[in-house]
Amino acid sequence: MRNTGKNRDSFGLKRLGNAVLDLLYPRRCPVCGDIIMPKGGECCDRCRGAFAYVTEPYCLKCGKPLREETEALCPDCLRKERFFDFGRAVYRYDDRIGRSIYGFKYNGRQEYARFYAQEIVRRYGRMLSELKPDALVPIPLHKKRLRKRGYNQAALIAQEVSRLTGIPAEPSLLQRVRNTRPQKSLNERERENNLKKAFKIRQNDVSLETVILIDDIFTTGSTMDSAAGCLRDQGVKGVYFIVLSITSV
Ligand SMILES: [Zn+2]
Ligand SMILES: [Zn+2]
Repeated sequence: MRNTGKNRDSFGLKRLGNAVLDLLYPRRCPVCGDIIMPKGGECCDRCRGAFAYVTEPYCLKCGKPLREETEALCPDCLRKERFFDFGRAVYRYDDRIGRSIYGFKYNGRQEYARFYAQEIVRRYGRMLSELKPDALVPIPLHKKRLRKRGYNQAALIAQEVSRLTGIPAEPSLLQRVRNTRPQKSLNERERENNLKKAFKIRQNDVSLETVILIDDIFTTGSTMDSAAGCLRDQGVKGVYFIVLSITSV
């Protein structure tokens, strides 16, 4: 019982600390990048709903927006076996969300995670409660890149989703074992080779039945597939993902 009181105190201190931090470093809007108006929210009132949501039709497997209503799967999911069961994305990737994610990843705008997580839960809260996952697993960065950036953007999102839903986040379950070259500089074949065996599991006895992988951007899906394959090898039965944004076909 003594612990409860102690935890409450430190929680109160943390909240006070956050309030002071908010005064010193006002939160910025993930959409326009300005200081949030009115204060206290996760984005400006006028900026709400500014990013383009994924709408139907989308690939039933990876969630990628499709051109034709008649198709069920995108060309990538038609062509190759996927190791994940299925996944969904919140936004259609475009310049706007691209700029926001850039600030989040490279300009220290870590506070955007709270907004992104709210959007994920608003959109896929039902999916989360129906799948009953044991853990949210962010796609890890290689430790060299993590050291350089100071934080893993996917882990920040997963932590915030965890806070909102109560599903545990497991940011250190997967490990990126090879410092893969930036995917955007490679063609598709090179991407696949680059990512083969790019992940490993940190612990031997994984007793997770169902896992949701979390990441910020899904392009070809080869990173996601590689991570999903690694989890499946360890006996995880259900592997799903939720990403913040996804490119179109
Ligand atoms: Zn704004
Ligand atoms: Zn697909």
